[in-house]
Formats: sequence, C-alpha cells, structure tokens
Amino acid sequence: MLDSNYFHYSGKKLNCENVSLEELGSRFGTPLYVTSTKSLVDSYHAFERAFEQLPHFTCYSVKANFTLSVIRTFAELGCGCDVNSGGELYRALRAGVVPEKIIFAGVGKKSEEIAYSLESGVLMLKAESISELQMIHRVAGELGKIAPVALRINPNVTAETHPYITTGDSKEKFGIDEAELPAVLTLLGQLPNLRLVGLDMHIGSQIFDPEYYVAATVKLLALFNLSKTMGFAIEFLDIGGGFPVTYDPAKPATPIERFAEKLAPMLLAAGVKVIFEPGRYLVANASVLLTRVLYKKRNHVGKEFFVVDAGMTELIRPALYQSHHEVQAVTRHGETVVADVVGPICESSDFFARQREIDAVDEGELLAVMSCGAYASVMSSNYNGRLRPAEVMVHGAEATLVRRRETLEQLVQNELF
Ligand SMILES: *Cc1c(COP(=O)(O)O)cnc(C)c1O
Repeated sequence: MLDSNYFHYSGKKLNCENVSLEELGSRFGTPLYVTSTKSLVDSYHAFERAFEQLPHFTCYSVKANFTLSVIRTFAELGCGCDVNSGGELYRALRAGVVPEKIIFAGVGKKSEEIAYSLESGVLMLKAESISELQMIHRVAGELGKIAPVALRINPNVTAETHPYITTGDSKEKFGIDEAELPAVLTLLGQLPNLRLVGLDMHIGSQIFDPEYYVAATVKLLALFNLSKTMGFAIEFLDIGGGFPVTYDPAKPATPIERFAEKLAPMLLAAGVKVIFEPGRYLVANASVLLTRVLYKKRNHVGKEFFVVDAGMTELIRPALYQSHHEVQAVTRHGETVVADVVGPICESSDFFARQREIDAVDEGELLAVMSCGAYASVMSSNYNGRLRPAEVMVHGAEATLVRRRETLEQLVQNELF
C-alpha cells in the first residue's frame, strides 16, 4: 500500500488531503483524476531543498502532466518549464509561465514551432542536430532575431531503466553525438543568427542509480571545457530530468538527496548555471485515478476479475511499459481477494493490475489507481470512443474542478461530412 501525507485512510475511507475520495466520485463522476496540490508543492520544495547548495534553475517538464492548473501551481512557486512542442508551449504560456523561464525542446521541431518559440521570447531552444541548427538559423534570420540555442548532447550512457524510457544511448534518436561537438561548434561560428547559451542532456526516465548521472555529467563537463577553449562562453549546463519515484512500495526510489550529494559538488566546481528538468519526480505521486467497479466476475479456472470504468485510455503505462500501479479500495473492507483489475477497452493489454491482492470491494464501489500524476492524463485518448475524464485539484478541505469531462459533442466537433 502506498500511504502518504496526501492520500491516506481516515478510518475505512481513503482521503486526498482533507477530502473524501468517495465524495469526489459521487460529485464529479468517474473516471476522475484527483490531484493533491500540497503534494505538488512539497515535491517541488523537496527538490529545491536537495539542490539548495548549488545555484540552479528548475524547469518542470510539462510533458509529464500538462493540465493548466498543474503548470500554474509550479509557475507560482517560481519554477520554469521545459516544453516539447508548440502545443506544450501554448499551454505553458496560457498557464501563466513567463517566456524567459521556458525552454523549448523536442527532437523534431517544425519551422512554425521554431518561429512561435522565437516570437514568444523563450529562454532557449534546444537543438538536436546540425540540420536543426541550420533550420533555427534560417527562421531566426527571417524574423530578424538571434536565437539562443543549447545543444542536446547524447552522452552515450545507457541508464538502467525500461528500454522505452532510456534516451542517452547511441542507439537512441536523441541528441548530438559527443564526438560531433567540435564540428558543430565550428559550424556555429558561421551561423550569426544563433547564440550558443547552453549544453544539455537527458539520459532517460525513472533512473534509480545516481552513477549514471555522474558518468554523463563528467562527459558534459568535458564538453563544456572543450567549448570554452574553442571560444564559446556557455552560460547554462542542463542536466535534464529522469529522477525516480516510488510506484511499488517493494521498490522504493532512491531519495533525491543521493543524486544531489553526487552532482552538486561536481557542478559547483564548474561555476556555471545549472538547469534541472524534473517531470515525473514533481507530479507522479500527486494524483490518483478514481474508478468505479462495474462488474465482478470469476471464470471457469477460478480467476477473479474486477471490471472498472477506467482503462488504458486513461492510464496506458501498464500496457506500454509494464508499469506497476498500486490499486487501493476507497472504502476498506478488511478482507482481500486476488484479482485482475481490468478496463472496458477492447484490448487484452487493458489492465491496471494482474493477480493482485486487493480489498474485496463490491460492485459499484470505488478503487483508486495510485501514482497517476505523470504520463497518465497527458497520454489519455479517445480510443474506443472514450471521453477524456474530468480532473479535480484538492487543496486542504477544498476540491476544485480544473478540467471538465469531455462531451459526446466534443468527440465529433472537428469532423465534416
Ligand atoms: C521527458 C523529459 C524530461 C522529464 O523526464 P522525467 O523522467 O519525467 O523527469 C526532461 N527533459 C527532457 C528533455 C525530456 O524529454
């Protein structure tokens, strides 16, 4: 069981902060994402505290959870944003993030997106190839601007995580090879509409061992020194995100302090402004997906299924990455059963838990799928004609609707006969 200050039982009832999840289920319907504001704020402060001895700037990676109210919560704390597309840039700006605190990234930016970010006045654009640098140069020239760029380096470090979320390995599509850097710097000298402001990396996600960051940072620092000797005064070193969270109490995440202990001294010595881009770390455990048990059934081999009203369209992580999510009864019964918790989508991979010991809840009762703050709502889809759920943010004893449930009309609104 994943018990926290933010989602905890009071007697038999599971609460988010001081609000009963059962009440939220009745008031707003299910499926429903419920986010604890205090959890978001505390995670940000924990991250900042861990790295407080190091001058740095934290940019929340919006792709983990782009709900406007979530972005705004971080922006109000002084946090910046890392965005990956024109759409995410639009969301960050709409949420009230100032452009000088936004980093524009992404492995395949279109010229319109580059123009949009330059016109918005973002802090920097991260470039991932020579062709992209030439494109940014061209667009900046057309707009009569000098584009601040950072180079995303592929440090060729294979971090141990799920293969679909490792990104700093030469087999992967991300970044510029370290060996290519001298040629890129030489080229930059010939592109007057670009100003090199940073070097950047992002080695993957949900990385438990700080040594992968150390190995990659050693490489990044060597390239920083090389750039200096080639006459480039680089202002920022961006270490990326990927810091881990606990999904399964049996596999607790390495505390953020262990990462800070290793990284802060190395980076402090370099005398450069450091940027971090945590996504998952800030949001994963701040939300649950509330879902109602529609039917219980047992098959001829005695296997028990709980069919619920949420599915892979609201949380695709188990299907996509074989991820573990705790599933908890909103009203505890005491006795348990071993069951599969499955959704209504026409796919065998549509499950939240398999052969899991859970409370023997009745049909019509609620379950909370835990740790649904990161890569859940943002990956939701209309597959099977599903309507995207409503989202609620809790603050103490108050619950606020921050995203309405989609309607049938919205499902077809862009279609023409
Ligand atoms: C996805 C991503 C992040 C955030 O990763 P988390 O694992 O959620 O912390 C940060 N930077 C870049 C460039 C990313 O693509």
